[in-house]
Amino acid sequence: MSRLLEARRALAESRSTAVFSGAGLSAESGIATFRGNDGHALWSKFNPLELASVAGFDENPARVIEWYNWRRTELAKARPNAAHTALAKHPGLVQITQNVDGLLERAGCPAAAVLHLHGTIGADRCNAACGHEEAVDLAQPPPLRACPRCGAHLRPAVVWFGEALPPAVWNEAQRIAARLECLIVVGTSATVYPAAGLIEDAVAAGSTVISINTEPSASFAAEHIELVGAASVLLPQLVDGLALATSL
Ligand code: NAD
Repeated sequence: MSRLLEARRALAESRSTAVFSGAGLSAESGIATFRGNDGHALWSKFNPLELASVAGFDENPARVIEWYNWRRTELAKARPNAAHTALAKHPGLVQITQNVDGLLERAGCPAAAVLHLHGTIGADRCNAACGHEEAVDLAQPPPLRACPRCGAHLRPAVVWFGEALPPAVWNEAQRIAARLECLIVVGTSATVYPAAGLIEDAVAAGSTVISINTEPSASFAAEHIELVGAASVLLPQLVDGLALATSL
């Protein structure tokens, strides 16, 4: 039996399935990944500690906002790809994502079914954590500005290196991962913790793990089902025609 058929059979038998995605899900929408060997990965061009950390923001907030605004305008021009669309056909499937791009929702996934572990690039929040948050127009993002409530700087509502994940979202993701029969892992290098630990949580709970990635993983355990190729091609082949849901 091919690996694809084996994976579809596991999904057909699963009573509770969820998806854990990373930047590779959006790569074919033209959104650069962070790591990867295609020469376009963001961290091969930029220093993460300058652009995605509290220390980097404190040192030069205008530079950080300029970089995020460049990513926002790129995202405004992007469209969901066939991988997002394939997932959106299963509205009962919980999407646990590291992506901040909002493309799953733009493809039609119900907002309530998407758990954003790393926040969203489509909003700014107060850097002093006064609680103020506001949506940002991706096509015309504003320059560095002050929080209207407390006067501190506003910053992208994403999780930076060294920051904790949003507790409610993280707790819910862990709760779900521990109850799954199948976890579909798409387009993630699974190197950013604690998010990547969800795969281990699912395995510990006895879940079958099906991964889709353009690069084979040396660390992927032999008992997992690894599908090597582009998400826009493999994901529709994997999930089309099946009845998939996350039983909570
Ligand atoms: P990553 O860049 O570390 O890994 C991306 C993975 O996707 C790699 O393993 C690569 O081989 C694979 N990949 C590339 N193109 C693919 C394709 N077409 N189909 C299938 N797989 C493909 O990304 P990550 O694991 O998500 O981890 C890191 C962090 O990057 C996350 O915290 C996330 O917040 C952030 N990030 C998000 C976006 C986004 O929102 N689109 C973009 C860049 C980075």
